[in-house]
Amino acid sequence: MMPCHDDQNDEKAQAPGQVERASVRQLQMRVAELGEGFEVARALPTRHKRMVGPWCFLDHLGPADLSAGNGLHIGAHPHTCLQTFTWMMQGEILHRDSLGHEQIIRPGQVNIMTAGRGICHTEDSLGRDGLLHTAQLWIALPEGAHDIPPDFQHHAELPTFQVGDSEVTLLAGSFGDLTSPVRVHSGLVALDLVSDKGGDIRLDLQPGFEYAVLPCQGRVGINGTPVDHKHFAFSGAGFDHLLINLGADGRCLLIGGTPFASPVHMWWNFVAHSRDDINQAYLDWQAHADRFGQVVHASQRLEAPRPPWMAPAG
Ligand code: MN
Repeated sequence: MMPCHDDQNDEKAQAPGQVERASVRQLQMRVAELGEGFEVARALPTRHKRMVGPWCFLDHLGPADLSAGNGLHIGAHPHTCLQTFTWMMQGEILHRDSLGHEQIIRPGQVNIMTAGRGICHTEDSLGRDGLLHTAQLWIALPEGAHDIPPDFQHHAELPTFQVGDSEVTLLAGSFGDLTSPVRVHSGLVALDLVSDKGGDIRLDLQPGFEYAVLPCQGRVGINGTPVDHKHFAFSGAGFDHLLINLGADGRCLLIGGTPFASPVHMWWNFVAHSRDDINQAYLDWQAHADRFGQVVHASQRLEAPRPPWMAPAG
C-alpha cells in the first residue's frame, strides 16, 4: 500500500550473498510520510538493512487517531514481483484491486496480495474516529516466481497458541506443528505476539533463517535487552531460539526467512530481479498497459517517478 522511494544508493550496506550469523542488534527505523499526513515508522528498507529473508519492506503505522484528519486514502498504484502483506491490529481498511476484489480487513486478519507480473490496488481507512494500527510488509518473490499471475487472498482466521499469559498468532509460514493458510513462495515465518500482563516467550527458531522483531506496542525486549524507541531488533541466521520479553500490554511482530542470495531491486512500488525489469514496469505503468489492469478510485492514480538511471525520455 505504501509507496516507497528507494534509490539503491545504500545497496552497498549489505553485500550480496552475505549472511550475518548469530548476533542480535538494534537497528533504527526511519520516519516516512504516507498519504495525507500519516507518519509511519519504516524498518525496511533502510541503509542499515535492506531485507530480512524475503521480507523487503516493513512499515508500522499507528496507533493513529483517525479523528485528527481525513483518514488514509491511497489511490491506484501498481506492484510487481512481490506480495503485499497487511496485518491489521486496530481499525479497518478497504482494499480494492484490478482483479475486482473489494475486501475490508479488520483486526486479527491478513490480506495477502500477490503482484507477480502486475496488479494495481487502492486502500482506504474506514470510519472517522478510533485508532488505525497496522503493519504493511512486502515479501519479494524469488526469481523463479517473479512473473506469476496476480492474486489476492483474505484470511480472517489464523492459527493461534498460548505461551503463559501471552497469545501468539501465526501469520505466515510454519511454526511448531502449525501452518498458516497464507500462501507464500519461499521459506519464511511471521508471528504476532501480544500479552496483557506481560511475560517472556521462548521461541524456537530455524537456524537457517534470519529474523527481525518489531515492537508494536508497550515494552518489548529481546534476550533481556529492551528494544529502544524507534528501533527494531535484527538477528542473523544461526540462532535456535530467542527470548522475547513483553511488558504489560506489550505487542510485537516477528518476521524471518531464508536470506536472499542477493538483495532485490526496488524502485517506488516495484520490486524486480533486474533494473531492466524495473524500467519496463515504470514504462508500462506510465503507458497504462494492460499488465496492471485498472481500479476506479476517488483519489488520483499515482504517477511513478522515473528511475534516475534511465536515459531521459524522448
Ligand atoms: Mn500497495
